Amino acid sequence: MIKIKNLKKSFRTEDIETLALNDISLNVAQGEFIAIMGPSGCGKSTLLNIVGMLDNPTSGSYKFSDIEVGHFEESERTTLRKGNLGFVFQSFNLIEELTVFENVELPLIYLNISKSERKERVREVLKRMKIAHRESHFPKQLSGGQQQRVAISRAVITKPKLILADEPTGNLDSKNGIEVMNLLTELNQEGATIVMVTHSDRDSHYAHRVINLFDGQIVSEVKSPPLAAQS
Ligand code: ADP
Ligand code: ADP
Repeated sequence: MIKIKNLKKSFRTEDIETLALNDISLNVAQGEFIAIMGPSGCGKSTLLNIVGMLDNPTSGSYKFSDIEVGHFEESERTTLRKGNLGFVFQSFNLIEELTVFENVELPLIYLNISKSERKERVREVLKRMKIAHRESHFPKQLSGGQQQRVAISRAVITKPKLILADEPTGNLDSKNGIEVMNLLTELNQEGATIVMVTHSDRDSHYAHRVINLFDGQIVSEVKSPPLAAQS
C-alpha cells in the first residue's frame, strides 16, 4: 500500500535548512499496523504528514496504492485523502462549535453522501465507539477518552484504507489509552492499515512492526507479534 524510497524532506526557515528526513525507505503492506518511534525532533511528525499526504517530500518517491503521490498538488492530495485516509491526533482536533454528531458527520458531507445515509452511518459508528449517548453534546462537555472516541469515529466514518495516528493516547490516562489502542486494533483486524507515531512502549506493542527513527533516518526495525486486545 505504501512504498517510500529514498525520501528526503528539508525545511528552510530564513537562512537555516533543517533536513528532517534523510533518505527514508519504507514499505507498508495493506493490513499492517506499524508504530514509528524516536526522540522528539527526529522526524516522526514530518514522516506521518507525508504518508498522510498533508505535505510533500523534497525528493524521493512515495507511492500510495501504486500511485506516485510525492509530487501531487495540494488539490490532488486532498482528493486522494478523502475517503482513503483517516487521521487521529493527540489533541483530538474536534471542532468545538459542532456537536459530536456533527463532527463525525462532516467527512460524509464532503463526500456528498445523502442526509439519511449520513444519519444512519453516524449513529452506527457512535454506537460502536460507545459514545452514542453523547451525540448532541459539544466536545468541551466530554472527557478526554470520550473525545478521542469521537475523533476515531470521525476518522473511520468513511471506512478509510489507511489510518494515521499521531500519539493517539498522548493525552489519555492508561484506562482510556488502552481502550483507544483496543479500538485501533479492532479496526486493523477488520482490514485498515495503521501508521501510528507514539512515545509509548505500551502502545508500540500493539503494532506488528516498530520503526525507530533518529535524526531523520530509520535506525532499526523490530517486528513483534501483535498483542491480543487487552482489558
Ligand atoms: P518529531 O515529530 O519526531 O518530534 P518533527 O517531524 O516534528 O519531529 O521535526 C523534525 C525536524 O524538522 C525538527 O528539527 C523540526 O524542528 C523540523 N521541522 C518540522 N516541521 C518543520 C517546519 N514546518 N518548518 C521548519 N522546521 C520543521
Ligand atoms: P510532536 O509532538 O508530534 O513531536 P511537534 O511539536 O514536533 O509535534 O510538531 C508539531 C507540528 O509543528 C508538526 O506538524 C511539525 O511539522 C510542526 N513543526 C515542528 N517543528 C517546527 C518548526 N521548527 N517550525 C515550524 N513548524 C514546526
